[in-house]
Amino acid sequence: MPTIQGGCLCGAVRYRADAAPLMTAICNCKHCQRQTGTAFSILVAIPKGALVMEGAQPNTYQDIGESGLPVLRRFCSKCGSPILSELAATPTMDWIKAGTLDDTSWLQPQVNIWCDSAQPWLQMSDAIPRIPRNPPLA
Ligand SMILES: [Zn+2]
Ligand SMILES: [Zn+2]
Repeated sequence: MPTIQGGCLCGAVRYRADAAPLMTAICNCKHCQRQTGTAFSILVAIPKGALVMEGAQPNTYQDIGESGLPVLRRFCSKCGSPILSELAATPTMDWIKAGTLDDTSWLQPQVNIWCDSAQPWLQMSDAIPRIPRNPPLA
């Protein structure tokens, strides 16, 4: 099982989870682009409640996602690093911003979502599905 452990740029927020990741997704939505300042978010889903915050508590921005549903975006109040998102659309999961993991070597994205707003120069793997907007919810 990959080690889910990480933290923000300044080190004030640290987290870990003793849980297997449920899925890894690339999100190309405009909100992720704006929040991260780059082309997409790499998101690792873990079961809700598995994440243990160590150190400083992250601050929260209450967003409304492009899906129209609430998204709680949690970030370090000192350095601004986005740490995780809690989506009303997926109440049984938390979504870690995977760039904050200490070890990213095991990441293997399984799906590209919100491809309608992907940067046009982005080269996407043909090996993983591309969904134009949000994924159909189970
Ligand atoms: Zn920080
Ligand atoms: Zn997004």
